[in-house]
Amino acid sequence: MPTIVVLGAGVSGLTCALQLAKRNEHAVTVVAKHMPGDYDIEYTSPWAGANVLPMALEENSRWERRSWPELRRLAIEVPESGIHLQKARVLRRIKEEEAAFRGPLSDGLFVPDPWYKTMMDDFRELDASELPEGIRSGCEFGSVCINTVVYLPWLVGQCAARGVVFKRATLKHISEAASMSHTGRKADIVVNASGLQACRLGGVMDATVQPARGQTVLVRNEASPHMMVLSGCDDGDDEMVYTMARGVGGGTILGGTYQKGNWEANPDPNVAVRIMKRAIEVHPALTGGKGIEALDIIRHGVGLRPVRAGGVRLEEEVIDGTCVIHNYGHAGWGYQGSYGCAEGVLELIDGALAAKPKSKL
Ligand code: FAD
Repeated sequence: MPTIVVLGAGVSGLTCALQLAKRNEHAVTVVAKHMPGDYDIEYTSPWAGANVLPMALEENSRWERRSWPELRRLAIEVPESGIHLQKARVLRRIKEEEAAFRGPLSDGLFVPDPWYKTMMDDFRELDASELPEGIRSGCEFGSVCINTVVYLPWLVGQCAARGVVFKRATLKHISEAASMSHTGRKADIVVNASGLQACRLGGVMDATVQPARGQTVLVRNEASPHMMVLSGCDDGDDEMVYTMARGVGGGTILGGTYQKGNWEANPDPNVAVRIMKRAIEVHPALTGGKGIEALDIIRHGVGLRPVRAGGVRLEEEVIDGTCVIHNYGHAGWGYQGSYGCAEGVLELIDGALAAKPKSKL
């Protein structure tokens, strides 16, 4: 049985481990400094909203395309995963439309006539009568919201039930992972799902990876019936407006920011006030028309999205004699691309194992 060590227990590492474990053909160990249940600035996954709002342009859409069917299935068939169906509204402001979609949000999500209109459920353009003030156009579609507090431990449970063994460790160098399999054997393959820390991990030290800081406010107030995201806001290019309601009692996430190169772990109180003000402007029902004082706050959050200049790194490299499959740099789409990327990792693993003499396995 080939021996595989997955470094990282964020959504990227856990999804790879689960998809490997489902095959029942590998001995899989997950090694991580942080695990579900931890809240740490070095660990991005728990801080995400998270939802599915396709961001890639059509030519780069494989990871999101290949993830959506499984996330949708989980929402419909597996409620204990913490994923539930929710309508999403994407609103294009007059200001960004006039600026020809410049700025950090000039991605696949906001382009008119997007590729994902045939993928997401019940896609439709909004009627002018449904548009709030300042909005030129928008669309609505069926999507999902992922309650990360429930989903990440669910992934751990699914892995454990299939024989994956978890170990806590802080690695200085990626090559240390090869000797950490629970089998005692040297790993045939190491999957590097170290997220933002890929820029600090020995043997990887990817200088093109940097944070895009996301600050959020989690509240008990409800903003149903739909999630919402705007193409921009008046408080600066690195601030955003979005809301989503987490299932199974997870509260409502109000976002946010997208501050590139900013490592600050503490929530900025001024930013928090701006986030809350913007949220009740687009969703007055959150406070029944009252001010932000009527928001019932559960937690302020800060997470660092792992942005890589050239996009996600999904490739093979031999480091100190061990085959390493990299899977990091998912920026703001780590959940919505998780199953597609895991599929890509499994393909690379199959190729690497096929190239290895059987006597070496
Ligand atoms: P991480 O979650 O950071 O996990 C890295 C793992 O590697 C951890 O277990 C860590 O301990 C381990 N590790 C790293 N270095 C070492 C080491 N040296 N030794 C041992 N272990 C190590 N995505 C979406 O799809 N939809 C959304 O709506 C969404 N919203 C977001 C909102 C916010 C505010 C933020 C911050 C992010 C959002 N994202 C969203 C993005 C998503 O959260 C990330 O892309 C994803 O969590 C990255 O996961 P990861 O597993 O690659 O990294």
